[in-house]
Amino acid sequence: MSRLPYHIRHNPHFCLLKLSFLSSNSAVLLAPKTFSSSFFRTLLPSTPSPKPCKRLVPSLSSKPISKNNSLKLPTNGFSSLPYASVTTPVYPKDLEERHLDTRSWQIMNKRLTDLGINTSECVPGKENRLLCPSCNGGESEEISLSLFIEEDWSSAKWLCFHAKCGWKGATKALADGKPSDQIFNKVNKYKAPRQITVEGLLLEPLSNEVIAYFAERMISAETLKRNAVMQKRLGEQINIAFTYWRKGALISCKYRGIEKKRFSQKDTEKIFYGLDDIEDESDIIIVEGEMDKLAMEEAGFRNCVSVPDGAPQSVSSKEVPDEEKDTKFQYLWKCKEYIAKASRIILATDGDSPGQALAEELARRIGRERCWRVKWPKKNDTADFKDANEVLMYLGPNALKDVIDNAELYPIP
Ligand SMILES: [Zn+2]
Repeated sequence: MSRLPYHIRHNPHFCLLKLSFLSSNSAVLLAPKTFSSSFFRTLLPSTPSPKPCKRLVPSLSSKPISKNNSLKLPTNGFSSLPYASVTTPVYPKDLEERHLDTRSWQIMNKRLTDLGINTSECVPGKENRLLCPSCNGGESEEISLSLFIEEDWSSAKWLCFHAKCGWKGATKALADGKPSDQIFNKVNKYKAPRQITVEGLLLEPLSNEVIAYFAERMISAETLKRNAVMQKRLGEQINIAFTYWRKGALISCKYRGIEKKRFSQKDTEKIFYGLDDIEDESDIIIVEGEMDKLAMEEAGFRNCVSVPDGAPQSVSSKEVPDEEKDTKFQYLWKCKEYIAKASRIILATDGDSPGQALAEELARRIGRERCWRVKWPKKNDTADFKDANEVLMYLGPNALKDVIDNAELYPIP
């Protein structure tokens, strides 16, 4: 069979045709060792399967059956082949599953082929190593793609181990058990972060206008300079550019219009703002925005970072996902060695409910035992100040320092 043309070997209908043959005298022409394509290998394992129903293997039965019981395969058009007196091929229930399997194989094979994954040598139910179509294995042309296809071809997942690629994804052949070609799972392709530079982003030193904007918020020119806060012109508009660095390399950039419009540099990695400032620190302060990080510096704390993404609306009711699935908190996992070295993590997020939810989400991941929280001072009889920058602006740097010095242990339920 391996000598047959590709389009015949890889046509699921041909498989059904073959099954019809198996129920006839012609079966002798199709000795199992000729089934070389991976699909047939699944269908016809050399050892008995513990789950015969899932497979397209004719099951042996001592019960003789009549001619009328010959395989009725709804779509292949070959079901009227004369039946010969061999063993019962399958139970009727298997037929539907068989049909589904064939359908899954057809869809999955096309899906993966369209992605550039060569499935011709793939064996379902185990890990296959292939050339990655995304990176072609890099310079060393390593066979770096790990592909796993379910035994019934219902789903597949893959991951490229090449460090510079990391392409991964998953797909299902059918949705809700319905043989529908229409519902496809999204294929998530990992995008390597963009390499950026200050020059490449056309960042400029701060103009007096922007320095004045910060001065109103009690942030000094010196603090701006040490944190490499820059600006970027877009037409007439000047945007503040908060530069995100890791070990001295520019990783990302976040912009904020003086009228408060915010946006991030596309396709860059999300990391803590001020990350290099917490390396080897035993106390780490985490705040919610860049302005708060700069405010902390005015109060004498450089050992502070701000989260790149703001706060969630509420605490998730689910368990903390595994590290690699915890997409929203990758910035935390990626610097876990910094966090692990610290003895105290002071959560100084905003006083509103999203800010408190953020503190809780961070504490769940870091471990509540090492976490501390702050109490924002009273603004008036009914409200508290909401964040570090507000405290700095209204009460001054000493009051902000007091807030941190008086942090209390994070509650452990
Ligand atoms: Zn790759």
